[in-house]
Amino acid sequence: MFSDTLPEHLNANRFIDAKEEISGPLEPQHYKRFAEMATLLPGGRATVRGSREPYGPRVVSGELQCEASMTCQRCLQPVTVALEGSIHWGLVFSEREMQSLDQELDPILVEEGQLFLRQAIEDEMVLLLPIMPMHESCDNGWTPDPEPGDVSEKESPFAVLAALKNEQGS
Ligand SMILES: [Zn+2]
Repeated sequence: MFSDTLPEHLNANRFIDAKEEISGPLEPQHYKRFAEMATLLPGGRATVRGSREPYGPRVVSGELQCEASMTCQRCLQPVTVALEGSIHWGLVFSEREMQSLDQELDPILVEEGQLFLRQAIEDEMVLLLPIMPMHESCDNGWTPDPEPGDVSEKESPFAVLAALKNEQGS
């Protein structure tokens, strides 16, 4: 099923038992926590499908891909990062069930029968963010050792550290 928007939550048992599949866009306004770390660009998409082997765990598998704008940690200019990940969730209905879940599955706690889809997807998106986003090569005039006096707001934090070290060493 292609959806105009991913539902905020869905009925976990029905989704699994019907082996439903949902595919929809990742809309920036739905992912506020993510927005604190990076700017989600339009065009992202996620697909999830429910399944269950007899007596097995309730599984939601799928994939997501999107692009986000972050700040390059080398030149402090915007850099676009491509995020792509696969989803392997095991739905659990209690903390106890969580402990006995297959290790290969990421536990997602179902509350009052609902799978909080967007929240779980947002967790995946946050995990995909690089810790040190950087351009492959910064081509906007950044130099590792700026001339003294050439202090601008865009000065690299590494250059500031280097300058501090030099001061301490002298
Ligand atoms: Zn850069």
